[in-house]
Amino acid sequence: MSYSQLDRPVQFLKGVGPKRADAFVGLGVTTARELLYHIPRRYDDASTVEPIGRVEVGMDVSVVGRVRSKGVIPTRRGLRIFQAVLEDETGMITVAWPGQPWLERKLREGDVLLVSGKVKFFHGRQIQPREYTVVARETAEGGVPTPRDAGTIFVTYPATEELPQWVLRGVFERNLDAMLAWVDDDEYLDPAARHRLGLPGLGEALTLLHRPTSVFDAERGRRRLAFDELFFLQLVQAQVRRKATELEPGIAHERTNDLIRPLHESLPFALTGAQATALKEIYADMQSDRRMNRMLQGDVGSGKTAVAVFAMLLAVEGGRQAVLMAPTEILAEQHARGIAELVEPLGIPVRLLTGSLGAAERREVLAAIGSGEAPLVVGTHALIQEGVAFRELGLVVIDEQHRFGVRQRMALLERDDARPDVLVMSATPIPRSLAMALYGDLDISVLDEMPPGRTPIRTTLRTPDRRSAVYDFMRAEIEAGRQTYVVYPLVEESEKVDLLSATREHERLKTEVFPEATVGLLHGKLPAAEKDAVMRAFAAGDVDVLVATTVIEVGIDVPNASVMVIEHAERFGLSQLHQLRGRVGRGAAESHCVLVAEPGEDAAERLGIFRDTLDGFEIARADLRIRGQGDLFGSRQHGKDAMLRFADLMADEDLLAAAQRDARGLVAADPELERPEHRAVREHLFARYRHRLAMYGVG
Ligand code: ADP
Ligand code: MG
Repeated sequence: MSYSQLDRPVQFLKGVGPKRADAFVGLGVTTARELLYHIPRRYDDASTVEPIGRVEVGMDVSVVGRVRSKGVIPTRRGLRIFQAVLEDETGMITVAWPGQPWLERKLREGDVLLVSGKVKFFHGRQIQPREYTVVARETAEGGVPTPRDAGTIFVTYPATEELPQWVLRGVFERNLDAMLAWVDDDEYLDPAARHRLGLPGLGEALTLLHRPTSVFDAERGRRRLAFDELFFLQLVQAQVRRKATELEPGIAHERTNDLIRPLHESLPFALTGAQATALKEIYADMQSDRRMNRMLQGDVGSGKTAVAVFAMLLAVEGGRQAVLMAPTEILAEQHARGIAELVEPLGIPVRLLTGSLGAAERREVLAAIGSGEAPLVVGTHALIQEGVAFRELGLVVIDEQHRFGVRQRMALLERDDARPDVLVMSATPIPRSLAMALYGDLDISVLDEMPPGRTPIRTTLRTPDRRSAVYDFMRAEIEAGRQTYVVYPLVEESEKVDLLSATREHERLKTEVFPEATVGLLHGKLPAAEKDAVMRAFAAGDVDVLVATTVIEVGIDVPNASVMVIEHAERFGLSQLHQLRGRVGRGAAESHCVLVAEPGEDAAERLGIFRDTLDGFEIARADLRIRGQGDLFGSRQHGKDAMLRFADLMADEDLLAAAQRDARGLVAADPELERPEHRAVREHLFARYRHRLAMYGVG
């Protein structure tokens, strides 16, 4: 990689010695480039900054002024108040911080402060600030311009105790021009591409961010950095995708309709439009010799399994085997049963392979898999372990793909004995933008339409004092022959948080509340065999009330269960609540979801949204809006390793689409980025995104 001035340690910048360089590490800044990308977190428009002379009692204002005098004033009650008098060219005003005498040591005469707060009457006009920043300080290094001269927008950087605002501003003041001059070497978008995307050049973007003349400028700058971030993320994923799907040819399945047509005819329902579209995409992938690497995304109950069965039959009618892998034994058994109902009438047997098969049975299944006598196999991880050799595997379907990590998915793709097509299914509805960002290496089909004729689940909110009414309702349902869930957020009681724990509540419900019913307990700390036993008993109808933690989230299907009670509902994320609610409403009876929660403003909004819609995608969008993308995306990475620092998946959907299109186009045209005009992209990719390449095992 060619050396750029921007790779120099920050230490060599003006006004940054070894000591400050150390302090910069705390902000994730070690090089000049990282400093340049340390952009303000807040912009205040000077037109909303009030000239001090015009400030009146009762206003809520921001003012900028120089500290003319200061001091600590004791009051009769012993409270010590720090006061400063701020001055600008129009007048003076007192600013007071009750109970913060230590500010005496932090603020100096001559400092320029930006303060915001309400103006009160107290021996004249006085501001008690909500917020304040030292925007400039006169030092031995030389004078600083007053912010008012610097422009009409005041920028506020992320700062620390060691590197306060005024130091950061000073460093930028003295180095920004030089750094901006160096940044042209980093530019990888040509003017035509920038124009097409409506984005500024890199140097211009950074200028807009550090020295905006309007808040709108800063947003233009941010969008450029957001695009870069999304583009390089997509570029990594485009390379992964190419490696998985294109480097070597896959299988071109032959479609005869010998099985697909009879299935259509025997199916007790017509496919939804969304299912038909997804199948068209899947068939096209499978029939081409390009390897399929596709995600089928759809809410619980949207009919993913039906789509998967058609895909598997396409593989089988073309003379190959197909396999469906589920994350747990119970789910695998459930799928095997459901799929057998559809395909065995067509003469296609379904075999089940899980870890708990007896030795003899296992041998027999493995032999059938090896000889090709078993065209359609359902199972768990046991399927991809060594010793499982298919005669000719044509399609792998993975259910609940998020339970298998990126690495497992890659491992599956890298089997060297065969290159089957891959379809992963996900019941976690996430907004399309998020799906693109997270799974840019996959093609995506979405089932955004529910099959008709479902009885909608009724959702109600109850405060804890109404719990006995909830129990009465459950009792009535149990007496009518149906089953119920009660879900708690914790497994064991914590001393710190007074939450009902599943274990303790199981005892109470069993002995005090429902002595006449069978009450089971399921939580994550039970041994796997015990979990399975409890789940089986519930599925068989031998347990009336299943007390559980969120371990029941995944795909379990007990049509007779009609009530889902969620305790401490405010503790769950919206998407999690949605998954839980999806456990009921799977049978003929009307189903209910009851959220028990303390009333509170935050929770009320979230839970209200949840009560009022059953649409998983809508809930996912609300979740993303409320929690922010950090929780969902790259939450474990911070600072310069964060996946997304500048991009906002909700606001930047258009950029994401453009980034994916351009990244895939680039990889298609110049897979190894060897052309001279792609040098900057290549260098950027390897210098700044190596860890991502490593995560996917490429590069
Ligand atoms: P998912 O796997 O997406 O949760 P399933 O494939 O299990 O959903 O489908 C849920 C239920 O809906 C099943 O009972 C299935 O038979 C039924 N189903 C699937 N597609 C349709 C359709 N187009 N019309 C009516 N019912 C359907
Ligand atoms: Mg194919």
